[in-house]
Amino acid sequence: RQEQFRALRSVEPVTRDGRRISLNMNAGLLVDLPQLSEAGAEGIGLFRTELQFMIASTMPKGEEQEAFYRSVMKQAGGRPVTFRTLDIGSDKVVPYFQAIKEENPALGWRAIRLALDRPGLLRTQLRALLKACAGTELKIMIPMVTEVSELRQVRALLTKEVQHLSKFGHSLPNKLQFGAMLEVPSLMWQLDELMEETDFVSVGSNDLFQFAMAVDRGNARVSDRFDILGRPFLRILRDIVRAGERAGTPVTLCGEMAGKPLSAMALLGLGFRSVSMSPASIGPVKAMLLGLDTGVLRQVMDEALDDTVSQVPMREILNRFAETH
Ligand code: PEP
Ligand code: MG
Repeated sequence: RQEQFRALRSVEPVTRDGRRISLNMNAGLLVDLPQLSEAGAEGIGLFRTELQFMIASTMPKGEEQEAFYRSVMKQAGGRPVTFRTLDIGSDKVVPYFQAIKEENPALGWRAIRLALDRPGLLRTQLRALLKACAGTELKIMIPMVTEVSELRQVRALLTKEVQHLSKFGHSLPNKLQFGAMLEVPSLMWQLDELMEETDFVSVGSNDLFQFAMAVDRGNARVSDRFDILGRPFLRILRDIVRAGERAGTPVTLCGEMAGKPLSAMALLGLGFRSVSMSPASIGPVKAMLLGLDTGVLRQVMDEALDDTVSQVPMREILNRFAETH
């Protein structure tokens, strides 16, 4: 099967009903980069910038961050890279930074919350990204957004950095794309503003599922208790896709579920046209989608999701669809 997936590397990811799907990979270190061409990924849909911080013993300086991002861009060789700003806190521990023990770290001082309280840290990172991507496209996304107003604050800081750099004669990225991760359920009631405020939205299904179902993603006792392919979560995802379609804002998904062929199939059935996953999953997901009719699946899923009486689990319906199609 490995050989079979390898052979698919240069095959265009187009579904049987002619939809082009963007298959991207998640990364966080330079050692991940060769996987781009090995797996045949279109780009990096999620670059976890906190990895550089997690493996360091002291806070990486601005120049070190810039040099690192520059190497990433160079090795990506023109393929698009979406850099997620620092997502530290909770399961991402940066020992020299988080001195305070929190009772509920997943709900605590983390990611964008921390960054907005320490704007120096965020501005340093934004500057490093802007400089490293001079003359090319910079795609930035913000983790753990809870209110759209946080995005406006980050954008204001970004504008300041752009102005600062251009005042001092630095060249800038020729295109800037500003996106948000959708991983906190409160954004479900700000979907239209969110789509207006961003160039793209990326669903972090690991955290969105954790927070929507109130199950700790790292606690084996409960993490498998509810099905990510159950009706509640699939309905959430469907609402997100619809909001993206209404606004014309591209929506992608970069959580673990994108890398499992059955859940990836469900995502395409819901209307996702772009996903990001671990590189090893690209082959299996591509093999799945080449035979998939997304239009037919969308109809089957819509009907099943609107059904409030059925006791048949969505996973069973999806499995049956996969077998018969
Ligand atoms: C997610 O939450 O789904 C995600 C992609 O980010 P992380 O796993 O790094 O929290
Ligand atoms: Mg997350």
